[in-house]
Amino acid sequence: MSIPNTVAELTEIDRCHWLHPVVALQQHERRGATIWDSADGIHLTDVNGHRVQDAFSGLWCVNVGYGQQSVIEAAQAQMRKLPYATGYFHFASEPAIRLAGRLVSHAPKGLTRVLFGQGGSDAVDTAIRCVRYFFNATGRPDKKHFIGLQRGYHGSSAAGSGLTALPLFHRYFDVPSPQQHHIPSPNPYRHADGPDDAAVLASTVRALESKVAELGADNVAAFICEPIQGSGGVIIPPKGFLAAMRKTCDTLGILLIVDEVITGFGRTGPMFACAAEGVRPDVLTLAKGLTAGYAPMSATLISEELYQGIAEGGCDGTAFGHGQTYGGHPVSAAIANAVLDLYTDGGLLTNGERVGQHFEAKLKELEELPCVGEVRIRGMLAAVELVADKKTKAKPDATLRMGQRVLEHAFENGLVFRAFNDDILGFAPSLNYTEADIDVLVDRVRASISHVFS
Ligand code: PMP
Repeated sequence: MSIPNTVAELTEIDRCHWLHPVVALQQHERRGATIWDSADGIHLTDVNGHRVQDAFSGLWCVNVGYGQQSVIEAAQAQMRKLPYATGYFHFASEPAIRLAGRLVSHAPKGLTRVLFGQGGSDAVDTAIRCVRYFFNATGRPDKKHFIGLQRGYHGSSAAGSGLTALPLFHRYFDVPSPQQHHIPSPNPYRHADGPDDAAVLASTVRALESKVAELGADNVAAFICEPIQGSGGVIIPPKGFLAAMRKTCDTLGILLIVDEVITGFGRTGPMFACAAEGVRPDVLTLAKGLTAGYAPMSATLISEELYQGIAEGGCDGTAFGHGQTYGGHPVSAAIANAVLDLYTDGGLLTNGERVGQHFEAKLKELEELPCVGEVRIRGMLAAVELVADKKTKAKPDATLRMGQRVLEHAFENGLVFRAFNDDILGFAPSLNYTEADIDVLVDRVRASISHVFS
């Protein structure tokens, strides 16, 4: 095959050979790809020269923005010095060791051990495998069931996709397994007991208690949740949600897994949402903002108690049979260290918190539009929920694809974000946004909503 050099040739090869994630496949064949060519700061440019402001940080991951020189230089230097080192067989590399120490120092106290992977899905799988191993190794082999939240997202791996609770990820894939269960999403806007926060919280606690009672506490391993449900539509649970779940898990004798693949690394303001809420999970999953998307990497942090149980399980000298070739990759680790420097010394967490306040004030103004049911926002993570009727909260007619049309109009006018289920617009700007960048974002969203709903 000759080297493709025209956009038409690239489009044709893509159409014929790249099976894309999370698109309607035949629709993609008809539509073709939007092919990105380059990026700088908070902007992306496609191969036709169309430049847009990125209001979604790629896929909620490029938290530091594009073209950060310190990150690029760290990657280059590490590639020259040591492009690969395994973590198997007692081998290690300096950047991965440093990163493990730094993650533990930022995480809630008591999470002491780090398992490195490639992305959020395998971080969740690692969490599941550690929990299973722990209970088997400590003489509680019946603890096999996992409970998550409806509308939760925990990746698309064979095991994690069953903890995810979005229909697309289940249909035809034979998940959830009989050991995977879900309780209602603590979504104040649409919960049967909403919008009262206290009632939604109490109901969620009761739902977990009764699910555990139904399965038998001796059979339940863990409850898993995101601090804010990202892919489910940026659903912000009532204040105190994580603490209430921690308390309930303790009472019921089950473990708590908090999935901060999206919310970690300043997305909601602080470094980690759970630490800010004073909650220490037994397992914490991280990815995305860890390397800000400059290279693939994830981290699963487990408590010292879990580690001791797991280590004792192998105290007859058997190796812990878990890991991947690229776990703790030195280039990804060097990138993560440079990215962490930007969050802390580089002031990006502080900037994100400050600009996030402006974002909140400005985006909330969209609630005055008759087609906006709710604006949800914490830090640099936000959603605008579109409705056909504000009073009844009726959703727009799905066949009209309103969310998609707003997105398409905004894209033509220089802004990219994401539409969920065609009625929720999602935003995750990078932490290097300025207040003026936020104004551009919100003004363009308002203009596109007004255009589509006019
Ligand atoms: N957990 C959460 C909370 C996520 O949002 C995601 C990805 N959006 C994942 C896990 C899976 O991560 P990945 O796509 O990197 O496998």
